[in-house]
Amino acid sequence: MREQTTATVAAKDKPAPTRIASVRAKDNGWWWEAVDAGRLPIQRCATCQTLRHPPRPMCGECQSTEWDSIDSAMAGEIVSFTTLHYPQFPGYPSPVICAVIRLDEGVNFVTNLIDCEPEAVAIGQRVQGEIQTIDAKNTLPQFRILAAG
Ligand SMILES: [Zn+2]
Repeated sequence: MREQTTATVAAKDKPAPTRIASVRAKDNGWWWEAVDAGRLPIQRCATCQTLRHPPRPMCGECQSTEWDSIDSAMAGEIVSFTTLHYPQFPGYPSPVICAVIRLDEGVNFVTNLIDCEPEAVAIGQRVQGEIQTIDAKNTLPQFRILAAG
């Protein structure tokens, strides 16, 4: 009984668990820095203008390594989704709704749907995203279903 009390006190003093931080490297660090600043950029080939996501060093259409980016308006449509009930990860809501969004700019984007029940999600629904500070390590684009009509 005494050990249980000590464990409870220790758990209360620990900081809340955070999500797994994004891995930032040479080819995607710029993208995460833009998200940290409140934007959702989409990489664009500087030679043929093809948009691509996730960020990568070369255009799949023309093999150019020159690129710039545009900022997404974060509006789109659900093209697929799944609900993760198990396992439950510290720092994440439960269940987690993961969706593939077709952004209006024309690229697919994997994200979480928030503020809805899994039963309310359907392919083809319109969504709107926003950049949210999740915890001390993570700023992420999150999407909500727009009301029908
Ligand atoms: Zn290109």
